[in-house]
Amino acid sequence: MKVLLLSPYELGRQPFSLAHPAALLRARGHEVELIDLSLGALPRTGLEDFGLIGIALGMHTATRIAASLLPELRRAAPTARLVGYGVYGPPNRELLEGLGVDVVLGPECEPDLVAMAQGEAPRPSQARVVFQVPDRSGLPTLARYAHLLTADGSRKIVGFVEASRGCKYLCRHCPLVPVYEGGFRAIPREVVLADAEQQVRAGAEHLSFGDPDFLNGPTHALRILESLHGRWPALTFDATIKISHILHYQDILPRLREYGCLFITTAAESFDDAVLAYLDKGHTGADIGQAAALTRGAGIAFAPTFVPFTPWTQLEDYVQLLRGVYDLGLVNSVAPIQLAIRLLVPEGSYLLRLPGFRDYLGPFAGDILGYPWRSPDPRVDRLQAEVQAWVEKADSEGRRRPESFAGLWALAHAAVGRSAPELDLSREGPAGPRLSEPWYCCAEPTAKQLSRWAAGP
Ligand code: SF4
Repeated sequence: MKVLLLSPYELGRQPFSLAHPAALLRARGHEVELIDLSLGALPRTGLEDFGLIGIALGMHTATRIAASLLPELRRAAPTARLVGYGVYGPPNRELLEGLGVDVVLGPECEPDLVAMAQGEAPRPSQARVVFQVPDRSGLPTLARYAHLLTADGSRKIVGFVEASRGCKYLCRHCPLVPVYEGGFRAIPREVVLADAEQQVRAGAEHLSFGDPDFLNGPTHALRILESLHGRWPALTFDATIKISHILHYQDILPRLREYGCLFITTAAESFDDAVLAYLDKGHTGADIGQAAALTRGAGIAFAPTFVPFTPWTQLEDYVQLLRGVYDLGLVNSVAPIQLAIRLLVPEGSYLLRLPGFRDYLGPFAGDILGYPWRSPDPRVDRLQAEVQAWVEKADSEGRRRPESFAGLWALAHAAVGRSAPELDLSREGPAGPRLSEPWYCCAEPTAKQLSRWAAGP
């Protein structure tokens, strides 16, 4: 069968969510075309030739973009079986079906995609994924994706690998939790290594691990790193590791550095212990400082992410969050969009189980793929809108992180009616190593992201 797989957005990464199902489908003789809509437009003609069209819904931004293009896709391919698959599929089933999707699958979708291409009915969640080496042929070259920006200003080509799926934890706000419910699966080491090898051969000088948490299986992770480092000693990498894992596995941080770890992304979310308890993050505000010190002490850059705006956030809390970032010397380590994120409440979120939480929410809204909420203090919602607008403007103008931060510092203090204390941003030093894609999976998509599929990059 002629199959088309589409990825609306994957954080500037060459999409594993296309390359892995493509490998399984091609192995069974299907003709598979891959289109990354973050780097190319939806074709105007020829879509009616495909018997099966899958669209990857691995994150909020991708699903918002998918929702905007599905009506056009349905019109252009009226007879194709249209499948939405990924973490954001099942929670948005009703909406997706209303937009013309025939079958909605979760992230463990590969056996069902193959079954559908064979003309069989999908049996969601019945079959276990047998991982194969992703087939990346037909995707744009790695050089067209997000680059590593190093502290000395040089750029390196990045490969994107996954060593596991799911997560052992049950953070209430996490979209993985309703789908995986605390389960995670290691992707076989030989598959990960072969995928890394094909990307190194394609020019990758750095690997970005896309695992929800790289240390859910520390032995698995270390064995992979040991092999990679033995083979390509100059190859560097980054990974996402939760704060409590950084503390618990602090003894292995030097080994991560030895194996080439340049930076660790970590979901700090908030410095406020009450908010962290609501989110069930398993760490405290003080732990963030400790994790930052341990990570940096091991010679690895620390890159925290945040959810600054929640229904519990008060104006003063936002000032304190910026203060925390500044005091820890993290201004150059935090992408400005991280300081604008508004808590997302998707269908199935464990937050909905929190007593009293529904009091903050309106009814489910398809246009935002979640339950809208308002702060009890309207000034907080106004500040969030101003912060979001400032970050988008600063990003489009190419401003440096300290400049963006200074603007947010001024906005936050104006909101509480105090003059902003002067900041010494010169002490920040150069920005650490990071990827060139500044946006984030839980951030609201920009107008440009929402319309790129029609016009191309
Ligand atoms: S540790 Fe990270 S990936 Fe795991 S449930 Fe919590 S937020 Fe989600």
